[in-house]
Amino acid sequence: MPYDSGWQDDHPHYVLRCTHCNAEYLIDSFRLQCNEQHEPALLRAEYRAKTLEVKSHLPGVFRYVDWLPVKRCLDAPGKPITYESKGLSHHLGLTYLYISFNGYWPDRQAELSTGSFKELEAITVLARIPKDEDRTLVIMSAGNTGRAFASLCSSLNLPLYLVIPEKNLKAIWSHQPFSPCVRLIAVRDGDYSDAIVLGQSISQMENFFLEGGAANVARRDGMGLPVIDAAVTLGKIPDHYFQAVGSGTGGIAAWEATQRLLGDGRFGSHRMKLHLAQNEPFTPMVRAWKARSRCLLPVDEELERRQIHQVSATVLTNRNPAYSVTGGLYEALVDTAGEMYAVTNHEADRARHLFETLEGIDICPASGVATAALIQAVEAGKVGKQDCILLNITSGGTQRMQQEHPSYFLQPNWVIPAGKPWFDELPG
Ligand SMILES: [Zn+2]
Repeated sequence: MPYDSGWQDDHPHYVLRCTHCNAEYLIDSFRLQCNEQHEPALLRAEYRAKTLEVKSHLPGVFRYVDWLPVKRCLDAPGKPITYESKGLSHHLGLTYLYISFNGYWPDRQAELSTGSFKELEAITVLARIPKDEDRTLVIMSAGNTGRAFASLCSSLNLPLYLVIPEKNLKAIWSHQPFSPCVRLIAVRDGDYSDAIVLGQSISQMENFFLEGGAANVARRDGMGLPVIDAAVTLGKIPDHYFQAVGSGTGGIAAWEATQRLLGDGRFGSHRMKLHLAQNEPFTPMVRAWKARSRCLLPVDEELERRQIHQVSATVLTNRNPAYSVTGGLYEALVDTAGEMYAVTNHEADRARHLFETLEGIDICPASGVATAALIQAVEAGKVGKQDCILLNITSGGTQRMQQEHPSYFLQPNWVIPAGKPWFDELPG
């Protein structure tokens, strides 16, 4: 769907700014880093519009297009929804608890068809790519991100190569049949790290390109939308923000979104405190932040691999999060006097069932981790009973969706053993 905003390349609606050396770059749909030689640093999108004008006639997230680094609008109806909690709020004795719900919940007009806020980043990443791009996007994923990209690329007929560990194949489903424009490569006997290696080698071939993860401004500004939607709905920036984190990207995105809202001026003048959680025993960012260390603490890789197998929220198990990088999560936590929480499987499970009972919709294990962190914070007095609190439910309603719609699973086009190189030339 075209969006006639009058955007032109010589009058861009945003520029990219290096968070380390301040270098500025004009619109470049594929730029992921600064050209200068210095320590790793994120680029950030700086928008011409300091005041957010909500364009409610546009589909889904594109109502916030002033603050999205996109080239065009796509016909994707999903967006975050913000609502006031009644059941959980009363249970915890809180007065102003709001839920950012990202998933499937037709009663509340929540229409993310893959049930996860990964869809927000997939929409914005795909809309950043020019319409006439003829190379194929390559995505490596362990689950939710791959499902979001596969489902959207399929419905929008955009070519995609998706690389995932074979053991995670069941995560790639959709409620509609997949289009052949989406190709799936499964890595046999490998984990997410092996998928990354294979995906990188494919992306270096002619006619392919890589998405970029946390370094892609479109991904972060898509993931920041729950905060933008909440501020627009409530008329102010919340005092506290709870979310579970794996790569840390969602936490960085929430912090960057708040900075834009502060720059707008109509949503208050205080920094929203980040409360971020990981699933025990795999908690590298929690341990680093509790030690106030800018670097992740040294670990035994074998031990980490074992810990990853023990957590219930597997989407939170990124071994190379965007924590130390300039403009990354460490700086976000310093700037907001943030808190980090370690949540056990048992606590997450209890919180998940509590949420389902009190709010009336199923949520994923990672959202259980975020809810359990809120419970910990309330018990420890880290939030006031009258404070305005936003709880990000990053994925929900998938059980309900699978009850109400058929599930189609994407079958692999190729299965490659871990550690084996990609073909020199693409087969058929
Ligand atoms: Zn730079």
